[in-house]
This record gives sequence, C-alpha cells and structure tokens, in this order.
Amino acid sequence: MTELIVCGSAGSFQGVARACSGYLLREGTNVVLLDVGSGSLANIQRWVPLSALQDIFVSHGHHDHVGDIVGLMQYTSFGAHRPDVVRVFANTSTCEVVHQLRRSFAEQDVVVRTTTVSAEQSFGLGGFKAEAFEAWHSRPSLAVRITDQAGHRLAYTGDSALCDELVRCATDADLLVSEASWLSGSGDYPEGVHMTARDAGELARRAGVRRLLITHVWPAFDPYAAAAEAAEVFDGPILVAEDNMVVTVGAGS
Ligand SMILES: [Zn+2]
Ligand SMILES: [Zn+2]
Repeated sequence: MTELIVCGSAGSFQGVARACSGYLLREGTNVVLLDVGSGSLANIQRWVPLSALQDIFVSHGHHDHVGDIVGLMQYTSFGAHRPDVVRVFANTSTCEVVHQLRRSFAEQDVVVRTTTVSAEQSFGLGGFKAEAFEAWHSRPSLAVRITDQAGHRLAYTGDSALCDELVRCATDADLLVSEASWLSGSGDYPEGVHMTARDAGELARRAGVRRLLITHVWPAFDPYAAAAEAAEVFDGPILVAEDNMVVTVGAGS
C-alpha cells in the first residue's frame, strides 16, 4: 500500500500552516520525495527522518519546489546519520539551480548529487517506477507518473498549464495530484504557466483518473472553492490537499 503524504500544499509562496510543494510517497521501506519546496522540510520530518530522503524528484527550479534543498544540503554537511548520497532527479535547467544552491556551501561536505532526466524518460526512483513528461510552465518543468509495486499509479503535475502531455501523464492514474493555482473568472491569466481549478478538473476528466487531489492553490484563493470549480467538470472524487494529510494512492481503485 502506497501512501502519499502532503508536506506542502501552498502555491507559489508559503501560507499560514501551508508549506510549499513537497509530497512523500511511502510504500513499505521505499520512500520518495516529490519536490522540496520552501518550508516543506519541517513537515517532512513529522513522517520520516531526513536520513530517509535519498531519492528526490524535483519538477522545476522555482523556489516553491526546490527551496528547501538548501536545508537538506545543510543537514548532509553535518554527517550524523546522513545517507551516503542524496540523489536529485530533475531536468537540466533544474539541476543547474541545484548546483547554484550547492555553491553557497563552498567547501562544506554536502552529499546531494543530481541525475538529469528528460521528458519521456523512465527511471527508477526509490523503489518506484517513474516516467517524466514535459510540462508547460514559465521555466522548463517536468510532470511525473509513478507506479508502485502493486501497479497503482500516481500522476503529479508539478507546475503546468493544461496540455496534452499532462493528459498522457495522468491517463488512468489512481490518484492525480494536480496544481490548481487559479480560479477561473478571477483574473486574466497568462498562457502556459498554471492551471485554473477548472483546468485541473478538465485534466482529471480527460485522463480518466480515479481520484483528484487539488493542491498548489494561490494563497489568495480558497482551496475548497477550487475543488468546487473542478467538480463542475470532473464527477469523480476530489480531495483538497492540506499539509500533513495522508492519502492512500490505490484506494477506491
Ligand atoms: Zn509552484
Ligand atoms: Zn513554478
């Protein structure tokens, strides 16, 4: 049984009791972290010791998705109980951000390493199978599909506007973890950056997912209003992400 633990549900910057993007996936002793946004490291430690963080997927280089890699680097530099290596899987652009952040530690013994992955690439991630998809965002960004030992599938959009690649990523997922940054009708939004909650519902409908978890809602908006908007186009179960919420990936399948 694979659990998804929300360790950061805020969009773009932290809110009250909401850290930025971070999602633990846990199946037995397998642990994977999807994004390590600013503030998420405090929540993560409610669930696993930092020494358990060995394989991390980072969707893109915005700080609400990678900012707390700095705290993790600092932790690994002290040595006690640290893993031999922390592997960050990300695209080229994101790996460069990680390298830039690493440089601020100068001679400190940091054991965070990067592995470059590209869209359409399959790779092992902490005992899970992962496949990356090209997202549509203001900087190079990947969505990811994770398959556990039981064959249950989770799709995570990272940050992205609605596009065919996201639909491919999410097709038949047991759980779609989708950003829903904006409420439609609340502004003129630029193309190719984020989804409205309606877009997230549309993605869930087109991909035929079993359940939708709404997350990364812009702090000025009510996440429950976002869920209601998504429900106008997706008639399956919709959950609203809260920090430290646990969702069983395969439930309801
Ligand atoms: Zn973001
Ligand atoms: Zn972003």
